[in-house]
Amino acid sequence: MSTSHDPCCQPDLLHPDAAIPLLLGQVNAITATEVVQLPQALGRVLAEDLVSAIDLPPFANSSMDGFAFRYANWQPDSPLTLVGQSFAGHPYQGQYQAGTCIRIMTGAPVPTGYDSVQMQELAQVDGTQVTLAAVKGVGENVRQRGEELSQGTKVLTQGCQIGAAEMGVLATIGVPQLKVLRRLKVAFFSTGDELMPVGSELGQGQIYDSNRYSLQGLLSRAGVDWLDLGVIKDDPEAIRQAFMTASREADLVLTSGGVSVGEADYTKQILDEEGQITFWKLAIKPGKPFAFGHIAKAIFCGLPGNPVSSMVTFYKIVMPVIHKLQGLPPQPVIRINAELQQAIRKHPGRVEYQRGILTTSAEGVATVATTGSQGSGMLTSMTLANCFIVLDQMQGDTPAGTQVIVEPFNYILD
Ligand code: AMP
Ligand code: MG
Repeated sequence: MSTSHDPCCQPDLLHPDAAIPLLLGQVNAITATEVVQLPQALGRVLAEDLVSAIDLPPFANSSMDGFAFRYANWQPDSPLTLVGQSFAGHPYQGQYQAGTCIRIMTGAPVPTGYDSVQMQELAQVDGTQVTLAAVKGVGENVRQRGEELSQGTKVLTQGCQIGAAEMGVLATIGVPQLKVLRRLKVAFFSTGDELMPVGSELGQGQIYDSNRYSLQGLLSRAGVDWLDLGVIKDDPEAIRQAFMTASREADLVLTSGGVSVGEADYTKQILDEEGQITFWKLAIKPGKPFAFGHIAKAIFCGLPGNPVSSMVTFYKIVMPVIHKLQGLPPQPVIRINAELQQAIRKHPGRVEYQRGILTTSAEGVATVATTGSQGSGMLTSMTLANCFIVLDQMQGDTPAGTQVIVEPFNYILD
């Protein structure tokens, strides 16, 4: 172990687990609300508890195509007389009569007086005479009124984010519109004289700006309104203007680049005049430099310029900030164990988020390999990956065969 990488020799590095509560302590959730129609509710955060105005299901109904009968009235080998039918949306209109059964379809109301359903595969029909076999008990194949929830029960809690299932649940309980928190507004720009927008010709020493596009993807998935302010040159006046516009328009201002040692003074000078800024050296790799502060009423997060660092820092540090601003509770990080397929070289000192390819065997045994070179500028390592391999701060070289912690992307991206 090289002592120059001993975390004791880098006491100014802050563990991300320690950084997040410090940042969140300075962030307040949006409180303004608005009413949206159900089709527009996806991704929005519920501003109030939602209580069901109806029982679910609203009436006893059949879970099978078959015959409705009254259990106490049934005897093996003794046929019941078919007297009517109940189809979905077309209930049986007659009265209960002893010794009878009703043809019934899935989702159709179980008529009053009848209490059980036998599936049609276990029924023998001879004209109007129906013999039911293998009847197990009362209530068989019946979904009882209110068995999922009864009227007045809380269905969704304030602070829940509306996903596909919530959209369906809201429709199930007949909610056409709902009160949600206003959408979070995020403005972002890239800084760097070397950066060119896609669609232009690259001159000497120039590269295409990629961070704004990764950020567009990340922010779209996070369900926020975003404003792309483009590439801003390393010019104090241009950066000042961009910060002013961004903080006027948005709740959260994100930048990439300009927070590393060589450039931090520059950003600091501007933000010291217009707000407050703290430069953090996070004990994560990639993504050590990170800036956090306030400009006017907006929160500011300065991401490192290197494209992988920028994404990793966004996932691990900015996402919790966004969740809190959006009014969401802290989101759980899903971690699983996987067997490492090849050795990884690592110095103790920082938590590493290596890009990994996670596979599981038919038996559910998880193994993981790195995507190869892990340079913080190699964004293709993110496209090849489906997970982060998380190597603890104090961990050193890690041999093949070690059980390592993996954070699958699907969960992170949802
Ligand atoms: P910086 O954080 O500005 O010192 O930049 C660190 C590295 O990331 C440099 O190699 C930059 O050229 C690169 N970089 C910075 N911003 C971007 C960006 N928006 N897109 C792609 N690469 C970037
Ligand atoms: Mg730069």
